[in-house]
Formats: sequence, structure tokens, C-alpha cells
Amino acid sequence: MKTALIIGGGITGMTALYQLTKFAPDWNILLAEKSKQLGGKIRTIRNGSFIMEAGADSIVARNEGVLPLIKELDLLDELVYNETGVSYIYAENQLHKIPEETVFGIPASIEALQESTLISESGKKEALKDFDKAENPFGPDDSAGDFLTYYLGKEIVEKQIAPVLSGVYSGKLSNLTMKSTLPFLLDYKNKYGSIIKGFSENKKTFFGEQARKKFVSFRNGLDTLIERLAEKSPGAQIFTETSAVRIQQTNNRYTVFFAEREPVEADYVVLAVPHDAAQKILGASALEVHFNKLKNTSLTSVYLGFSVPDACLPADGTGFIAAENSDLFCDACTWTSRKWTHTSPDRNLLVRLFYKSTNPHYKMLEPMNEEQLIKTALSDIEKSLGITQNPQTANVTQWKNLMPNYHLQHGQAVSSLTETVEKTHPNLFLAGCSYFGVGIGACIQNGKKTAFTILQNGNITVKE
Ligand SMILES: Cc1cc2nc3c(=O)[nH]c(=O)nc-3n(C[C@H](O)[C@H](O)[C@H](O)COP(=O)(O)OP(=O)(O)OC[C@H]3O[C@@H](n4cnc5c(N)ncnc54)[C@H](O)[C@@H]3O)c2cc1C
Repeated sequence: MKTALIIGGGITGMTALYQLTKFAPDWNILLAEKSKQLGGKIRTIRNGSFIMEAGADSIVARNEGVLPLIKELDLLDELVYNETGVSYIYAENQLHKIPEETVFGIPASIEALQESTLISESGKKEALKDFDKAENPFGPDDSAGDFLTYYLGKEIVEKQIAPVLSGVYSGKLSNLTMKSTLPFLLDYKNKYGSIIKGFSENKKTFFGEQARKKFVSFRNGLDTLIERLAEKSPGAQIFTETSAVRIQQTNNRYTVFFAEREPVEADYVVLAVPHDAAQKILGASALEVHFNKLKNTSLTSVYLGFSVPDACLPADGTGFIAAENSDLFCDACTWTSRKWTHTSPDRNLLVRLFYKSTNPHYKMLEPMNEEQLIKTALSDIEKSLGITQNPQTANVTQWKNLMPNYHLQHGQAVSSLTETVEKTHPNLFLAGCSYFGVGIGACIQNGKKTAFTILQNGNITVKE
């Protein structure tokens, strides 16, 4: 009987576990997770009637494999969709509406460009040059910042696009590739000669009914998915509070040592842990140079729940992004009770503030304790929204060095790392958000793909 051991109980590891137990019920399948609870960056906290997602808050529904898995797990009835609404950019001490017909702040029509209150007339004129520059000297590995600035001009990129895109992809726009952000814009430029025209011609994709139902969660919180994956993997042994510390390789089998329990011998090992944890566990000098090229950033999430109705918010909408030079410390603020109504059934105000290490203010926040971080968040709320009440509840979650940063050399670094691992450690697999995509959809795909490779190596034919 074969033994497969998964290290790391985030969404990647849990998906791999589910697929392995489904197709190889006779194998010995184990999962070891360092923390008390499974889920990793999916962590739901319930406090009073509030539901707070301390990590990821939702899944992009259209990502391949997401809805089929949710259906297979009998969770379709539990699904909730985000409310759509206006988003704002907080700049010069006020909220500026991001025009509705924009995608990541990029106008999808000339009207949407004209509507912006953030861009000057000369900035708008500059952006219209996109229609005259049909040539495309850019490729997938070029910087998204360079691409957008070349066609749309500096002002709109700095004031309206970079705040949105950098927020979504956790990094400076100049350091993000087209491939990892907006690869389809290269096609738009080639096909339509203009980015704005490309969006105009594809409005259905971005603004139709389907696009409105873009993000999904579950009525009782995102960790419903993790719980269900565990329930539907009945033959597996799951160990929490079990931290892998070392791996020893003997004749293409592995012995994995843990801090808290006896070692496990396995034919297949999946390291579904952050890259620096995998690097430590493997301790292989041949891999160091490749691992060292991967980078992380940090993020602090602060929730504030109030005992006042969210009608006290100063505007309709779902939240704001702070401009780089604003008077706030935060990078963004989601009006959670508006965006996700299931998180506050009484419709009391729940907001979430994000503080990123890519922001120069972060240095000042680093030494702060929870109380000081909550005070900072309250001050940001007062400045931006004029709300001065004391919160009924608060939650601070720090993701220190746990946000993968897909810089320009990321793809190359992952290829050379995985090629080397394949040679030096057969039947051992690196998996998860550090390498193959940070979104939960990408992690689900990667967990499944990893399990299928193991099944194939173990001569099990998978019939879906
Ligand atoms: C604040 C925040 C907001 C996000 N928002 C979204 C969002 O809205 N939508 C979206 O799609 N994505 C979002 N993401 C990204 C997404 O949540 C993650 O990329 C994804 O959940 C990562 O899953 P994973 O299984 O690859 O890794 P992780 O969730 O990091 O799981 C790795 C697991 O390995 C465990 N581990 C580490 N070391 C060891 C060891 N030595 N032994 C055993 N176990 C170990 C960890 O405890 C952890 O449980 C967000 C992430 C964060 C932090």
C-alpha cells in the first residue's frame, strides 16, 4: 500500500487530500498541519452576529474548477455572492468615485474616462493617446506599469489604476508582469489597437450579469469549504498542531520528522506550505539558490464592528482604496457589511482595513501592539468616513512575510526550482500560493493537479 503525506492544511493541501482520498481510497493518506485549525489563509472568525474573514474573504467564481468543486461538495446551497456597488479612491481628503465602467481603474469607454474626478483634463487627453498608439512592443514578461503608462499616460496610471491593481496583486505595478496581471490586454492592443476599445468591445465579460456575480463565499463563512473538504476525505488521517521540521530521503522514499510526533515514512510528499517553510524542511543546499529568489510581503488586517447601522456610511458603495499620498495609514478599507451582507445579518457596520508592508507607513505600524493598531484604524475611519463611535468588536490579524510577491523574475525562479526538485526529490511536490498563483481558484487547481500527478505516478487511472 502506498503512503502519501501532505504537509500544510491550507486550501492547496486540503484539495490535494480530497482528490487523493477520492481516487485512491486504499492508500494510506495523511495530512499534517502546524496550526490548531485547518485552512491556512482561509480563517473565519465569528464574533456576536459578525462574520469576519481574517484572511481571504472570497473566491473568484469563474476560475476554472471552482464551481465544479463547490457543486461536488454539495455546497451550492450555501453560496453567497458579493453585493456590487461603487468603489472609491480616497485622495486629497475626500472619496472619489471610481467610474462604474472601469476595470481595475482602467476606463472601458471614453465616457468613463471623462467621468473621473481624479484625473486632470491634461491627464485625460494623455490617456486618449491610447487610440493612436496601435503598435505593441510589449510581451508577457514586461512590466504592467510600463505597458499601461506607455499607452494611457502617467497620471491615470498613478492616480486611478495603480492603487487598484497594486491592491489586488500585492506589489508595485512597475514590478508586476503583464503575464501575472492582465495578459489579455496584450491581445486587446493587437486586436483592437487600443486598450480602452478592447474593454468597450468586451463589456459583456466585465459588466454583464455574470460579471456582477464575480466573487463567492459561504453563508456561514469561507472556512465552510475547508470543513467540507475534511469531511469528504473520510479515509485520511489529519493531524493538526503537527509541524514538519525535516525530511530525509532514502531510496526514493521519504521520512518526515515532526516537532510533536513520531516520524512518517511516505512514498509521496506534498509540501503545501509557504516557500520559506518548505525551504527549511528540505534543507537542501542545491535548492537554496532557487528558493532565495522567491519573495514575500506582509499585511495586517483590522476589522472594526460597530453597534450602529451601516446606513451611517457617508456614501453608497463597498469601500475605498487610499491614494499613495493620502493622510491615512491604511491601503484600503472594505465596507464589509455592505459588500457581504451575510457578515452582518443585523446590518450593523462592519469595516475592514488593510495595512501592507509595501506602504512606507508600515514601518511605523510594525512595532505597534493590537491596541495601538486598533487606535490607528479608528483614526483612519474617522478621517475618511467621519465615524467616531467606539467599536463593539475588533480583530487584528497579522500575515507577516506570508503574502507571496510575484515579482518580475518569479516565473523563471519557480521553473528552475521545480525542475531541480523533480531531479533531486522524485515524488516530492512543492504546491500552493508561493509558486503557482495566489488566488484560491489557482490553489484549488494546483492542489488537484498535484494529486493527479501522484495518482498517475502510482498507476491509478483517474476518471472524472
Ligand atoms: C489577508 C489575505 C486576504 C486574501 N484575500 C483573498 C481573496 O479574497 N481571494 C483569494 O482568492 N485569495 C485571497 N488571498 C490569498 C489566498 O487566501 C491564499 O493564496 C491561499 O489561501 C493560500 O493557500 P495555500 O494552501 O497555498 O497556503 P496557506 O493557506 O498559506 O496554507 C499553508 C499551510 O501550511 C501550514 N504550515 C506551514 N509550515 C508548516 C510546517 N512546517 N508543518 C506543517 N504545516 C505547516 C500553515 O500553518 C498553513 O496552514 C488572501 C490572502 C490573505 C493573507
